[in-house]
Amino acid sequence: KDIFCTKGVKTTAGSKILEDFIPPYESTVTQKLKNAGAVILGKTNMDEFAMGSSTENSAFGPTKNPWDLARVPGGSSGGSAAAVAADMCIAALGADTGGSIRQPASLCGVFGIKPTYGRVSRYGILAYASSLDQAGPITKSAEDSAILLKIIAGKDNLDSTTVCEKVANYQEAANAENIKGLKIGVPKEFFGKGLDGKVESMIKKAIDEISKMGAEVVEISLPYVKYALPAYYIVASAEASSNLARYDGIKYGSSKLKAQSSKPKTLLDLYLETRQEGFGEAVRRRIMLGTYTLSAGYYEAYYKKAQQVRTLVKKDFDQAFKKVDLILGPVSPTPAFKIGEKVSDPLTMYLSDIYTVPVNPAGLPAASVPCGFVDGLPIGLHIIGPRLGEEKIFQLSSFYEKATGWGKKKAKIS
Ligand code: GLN
Repeated sequence: KDIFCTKGVKTTAGSKILEDFIPPYESTVTQKLKNAGAVILGKTNMDEFAMGSSTENSAFGPTKNPWDLARVPGGSSGGSAAAVAADMCIAALGADTGGSIRQPASLCGVFGIKPTYGRVSRYGILAYASSLDQAGPITKSAEDSAILLKIIAGKDNLDSTTVCEKVANYQEAANAENIKGLKIGVPKEFFGKGLDGKVESMIKKAIDEISKMGAEVVEISLPYVKYALPAYYIVASAEASSNLARYDGIKYGSSKLKAQSSKPKTLLDLYLETRQEGFGEAVRRRIMLGTYTLSAGYYEAYYKKAQQVRTLVKKDFDQAFKKVDLILGPVSPTPAFKIGEKVSDPLTMYLSDIYTVPVNPAGLPAASVPCGFVDGLPIGLHIIGPRLGEEKIFQLSSFYEKATGWGKKKAKIS
């Protein structure tokens, strides 16, 4: 994903404002992969600054879904998910602030995991919302993911938010011989209005199969989760407006843009011209929303309230994980939608993250594992774990994957 700084290699974050940016340093994640012998083939397309759910917000054009070229691959890590699904590489990296690894993995029929917040270093990853961003692999199987996560996870002195706990043996978990004794919670709130009927039956069927494989399935409730989406868009936009302030045309920002502009007379003109030309619509919308909710008169009413809601959402999950090992549900309310279908309606686009978003404010790990097809398009099952519960996620997803073989189906690109 072109959001990881690669020393000496262009890193654009899908933005015109960074079209000439060549980082002088390497992200911890890519450095660790290189140290382990990985070969980096290229960098993949993404929604500008990871803001979006379809990879249509890239300044360099949209990415297509290998299962149906008229459809989106999801986003914002759509380029990575499409590259893995189209067999262009063995694995790719994604970053997930509110679903950007899991939703494209679901829409492209591959495996994607967002680790626990702090499990993987954010050093050298262009920031969207620092308290939510987390990097992770997108792969063809849970076991490949386990191998990669083991390499990229761990304490990093260059990111003080990384956690100290030892990295577990994910690969061993991915090779577990059974799932007996796993207690699974299914939140009733995940099966309400807005969920496509065929997707719903697919997810329920998958949960049924998992129960037959030996896990114990119980219904649970996450009453505050319905407020997670609006709270997320306030917090994420607020942090984005602050993080993106650095792209001012001086420290960062394309020099080409400066040359094209009308020779700004004041510093403010330079900022305005660079940012107006350099940022796309989705990014500008969030900067404005974020700046508004952080402003003196509105901070208490919006930003502070959103942070309080965030705590309630986290408590919901804490309560649930006292009773269950993992939580299951849908990743995306629909299969891949058509290119252009939602692009002019940001609110509808935001709703495609309704199930993935609550996980990030709570800092939890979660994965999307292929669980079938609706009208020829892949569907992902959402597996949410407790803090640092990646092992259990790998245990269940890998076992399920091997038993069903859904992840092995390949897109036929014509
Ligand atoms: N679609 C969500 C957003 O635009 C999530 C994106 C992400 O996880 N980076 O904020």
